[in-house]
Amino acid sequence: MAAFVVLLIAMVATAGVIHLRYAERKYRIPTTYDLKPNIHPRRWEYIIIHHSATPCGNAQMFDRYHREQKHWNGLAYHFVIGNGNGSGDGEIEVGERWIKQMAGAHCDRPEINDVAIGICLVGNFMETVPTRRQMDSLVKLIKRLQRDYGIPTRNIFLHREINRKDTLCPGKNFPLEELMARLQGTPIIPASARR
Ligand SMILES: [Zn+2]
Repeated sequence: MAAFVVLLIAMVATAGVIHLRYAERKYRIPTTYDLKPNIHPRRWEYIIIHHSATPCGNAQMFDRYHREQKHWNGLAYHFVIGNGNGSGDGEIEVGERWIKQMAGAHCDRPEINDVAIGICLVGNFMETVPTRRQMDSLVKLIKRLQRDYGIPTRNIFLHREINRKDTLCPGKNFPLEELMARLQGTPIIPASARR
């Protein structure tokens, strides 16, 4: 909780320079092509959805927070989807973890992190809802990942559904039903049939 308050204060204090960091940050906006990493992909089986629990942010800010406050090896997620405060509304940022095909650090079960792609939407969905563009980007990204890695819709989880420790992530207002409805009919090619 203390760390969260520190982060909030830091974000408010730096709000004026976010656009500067935004321009300098190392995280990339993907083209549809570079969602496919250049190196041999991991055996991805799950997709886990998170919220940042902050009103604003971007991959660079969460990367710094995870390194400096949590002492993790960088941004816990593979992708971050912006809400217009800190990065573009609906902008998908690709983390180093995806480019290097590293296990996630976004859930408290190592066996799940090992095979689960983590996507974080910027926002606190205990209080607000994702923007229309965030949901559009989330659906687009998930469909693409499902297709590329043969991940069935039943293997898409909210963080709170799969974590061992209680968490509300990605917030009570996350529109799970809408997401599931929009993913209906996504054709899945089993991984075994693609190799
Ligand atoms: Zn989470």
